[in-house]
Amino acid sequence: MEILDGKNTSLKIQNELSNKVKSLVDKGFKPPHLAAILVGDDGASRTYVEAKVKACKRIGFLSTLIKYKNNVSEDILLKKIKELNEDDQIDGFIVQLPLPAHIDDTKITLSIAPNKDVDGFHPENIGRMTLGLPTFLPATPNGIMELFDRYNINTEGKNCVVIGRSSIVGTPMSILMSRKSKPGNATVTLAHSRTKDLKTICKSADILIAAIGIPHFVGPDMVKDGAVVIDVGIHRIEDVSKKSGYRLIGDVIYEKVAEKCSYISPVPGGVGPMTIASLLINTFKSANEKRN
Ligand code: NAD
Repeated sequence: MEILDGKNTSLKIQNELSNKVKSLVDKGFKPPHLAAILVGDDGASRTYVEAKVKACKRIGFLSTLIKYKNNVSEDILLKKIKELNEDDQIDGFIVQLPLPAHIDDTKITLSIAPNKDVDGFHPENIGRMTLGLPTFLPATPNGIMELFDRYNINTEGKNCVVIGRSSIVGTPMSILMSRKSKPGNATVTLAHSRTKDLKTICKSADILIAAIGIPHFVGPDMVKDGAVVIDVGIHRIEDVSKKSGYRLIGDVIYEKVAEKCSYISPVPGGVGPMTIASLLINTFKSANEKRN
């Protein structure tokens, strides 16, 4: 069994980007600039956004963090998005999800200019991805594709089961894996909450991607011997032995599943850091495209 080390792979990608930023700056261009909007004080969202900003600093990107209280109005948020859409100094921006219930996620996603949508959530970018056209690929699924690529995992003709059909993870993941590309070219099953006999379907998977959002949902009885298992889930569970008072676990029971796998991504240190790498790749691409 080999661990898919997302932390290290993400750092490798960040080093590559850092070198590219240096050569841009040497040529007299300004570094790529990512902005992030954070609404409310949810601990997990704050941690994710801060990790993104920290990564920008590490590789020489400019970053701007815009924070709002939980009760910010949708109008104020839309106004800020319009401002960022029109600001030539910003190459890309994200609005950290989830948003409070009084704000319409879809309206927010639709208001982001597709050419600054470095999370790859806008319908135009999702459509371009589906057709295999150049675009910003959704950050988490593309981070997983990068892992397959960098670990040289053969996906062609393999049975891939994705559990979860969210618009930001499961659905785009299933599309990327089924596209005529490398990695890709897999035979994909997209399973969800209404899927019957999920266990049998998962057991048939050469590649199993868990994006369910239920802690420890996938056990060894759902995994084929020698499978590649990708755990997208992130959950904070109480752990008094930790300074923070919690630890992170995934959708997969890592301790029991790992021994059956050829490759497995851990939580933490798997998909999470790859999502950040992907976001940085998209931001660099956006900045670079403007110069060409
Ligand atoms: P979501 O809640 O939007 O979607 C969950 C999906 O799982 C749904 O499509 C649902 O149909 C399916 N599902 C629920 N119960 C099921 C069941 N019993 N059987 C089969 N399918 C079932 O979640 P999401 O936004 O896709 O996120 C999934 C997980 O991934 C969460 O834990 C989230 O925190 C994590 N996540 C991690 C990253 C990262 O960077 N690592 C990024 C995004 C999300």
